[in-house]
Amino acid sequence: MKKNKVAILGATGSVGQKFIELLSNHPWFEIDELAASDKSAGKKYSDAVNWVMQIPLDKKIAGMDVKKCEPVLNSKIVFSALDASVAGTIEEDFAKAGYIVISNARNHRFDDDVPLMVPEINSNHLEIIKIQKFEKGAIVTNPNCSTIGLVMALKPLDDEFGIESVNVVTMQAISGAGYPGVPSMDIIDNVIPFIGGEEDKMEIEPKKILGKITGGKINYATITISAQCNRVSVIDGHTECVQVKLKKKTSKEEIIKAWNNFSAEPQKLKLPSAPEKPIIYLEDEKYPQPRIHRNLGKGMSVSIGRLRECSLFDYKFVILSHNTIRGAAGGTILIAELMKSKGYLDKYL
Ligand code: NAP
Repeated sequence: MKKNKVAILGATGSVGQKFIELLSNHPWFEIDELAASDKSAGKKYSDAVNWVMQIPLDKKIAGMDVKKCEPVLNSKIVFSALDASVAGTIEEDFAKAGYIVISNARNHRFDDDVPLMVPEINSNHLEIIKIQKFEKGAIVTNPNCSTIGLVMALKPLDDEFGIESVNVVTMQAISGAGYPGVPSMDIIDNVIPFIGGEEDKMEIEPKKILGKITGGKINYATITISAQCNRVSVIDGHTECVQVKLKKKTSKEEIIKAWNNFSAEPQKLKLPSAPEKPIIYLEDEKYPQPRIHRNLGKGMSVSIGRLRECSLFDYKFVILSHNTIRGAAGGTILIAELMKSKGYLDKYL
């Protein structure tokens, strides 16, 4: 099968590098262009980047010229890992010029006509791109890295029992702040109980993702969510302690069964980045732990453990998901795979 050429905007950053790593042997997509800020544009990629991935930088990629983030690229499929301070306008310019932009940035997540996608949860929301204001192009977004783990755990519970309210406390990895991110003197031997804008995102994004489409519009789910977000001294993998109040009372066994049986369209379609098991429930009371479990399902599975009764809500449990794979580059590539298999990329190939 001939591979489809793709470009990466923000290719030098933490998420941009993860895109390069994950796309290095992708069966459907091939990196054709890399772009970043004016500081990097015009340089060879190896000179512009401080490569921090665990695989060596591929020679072909290392020798590519970094381009400006301007809509004159050859590849019509564009993955965006741009800093949010610039992503809004750049992504819109690309969409206006006829590109399909699949983005990790927060800027367009709440536009009424932009899907906020987790392929296992709301693949039907893709249909709203038909009403986007751009003539040929479109924007599709990936949620915040900590939202993704949370909604994956909530979706089977919402389907089977209904969710009334959620309280979540996160312990988020350093790589979530980009590269070079949080200064070492701030984070080593420390916990920082504040991540700008994160709590608002976690309280709103799940409602859009779990919302239903009626009359061509996404109606947000009516769940009450309270979030507290902390940065901890872990490189990759966000851990979240969750309490949940359900609409229908149920047993611990039924909840674990709902998680273990959860499977959705990406699994049915056997998309290349879809993990066989999107959710893995770990019985050992010490699990999940970021260093041990973040790479389950090649970083695309969400691990859950410690389900127990809660004296304030109904149940409490712990979630772990890889923030730069499932929570960013990997999740975005899965969106592109879903779009391709459903014909949404046909006009961009
Ligand atoms: P990062 O490491 O700071 O990388 C930012 C990228 O944006 C770099 O490639 C940078 O290029 C580029 N850039 C900055 N200013 C630019 C400009 N004026 N014009 C064009 N390009 C510019 O950030 P990151 O962690 O990879 O995050 C990228 C995006 O994904 C952000 O919107 C972030 O919120 C989101 N996100 C991150 C994570 C995560 O776990 N890290 C998870 C989900 C979503 P230069 O190197 O040339 O400056």
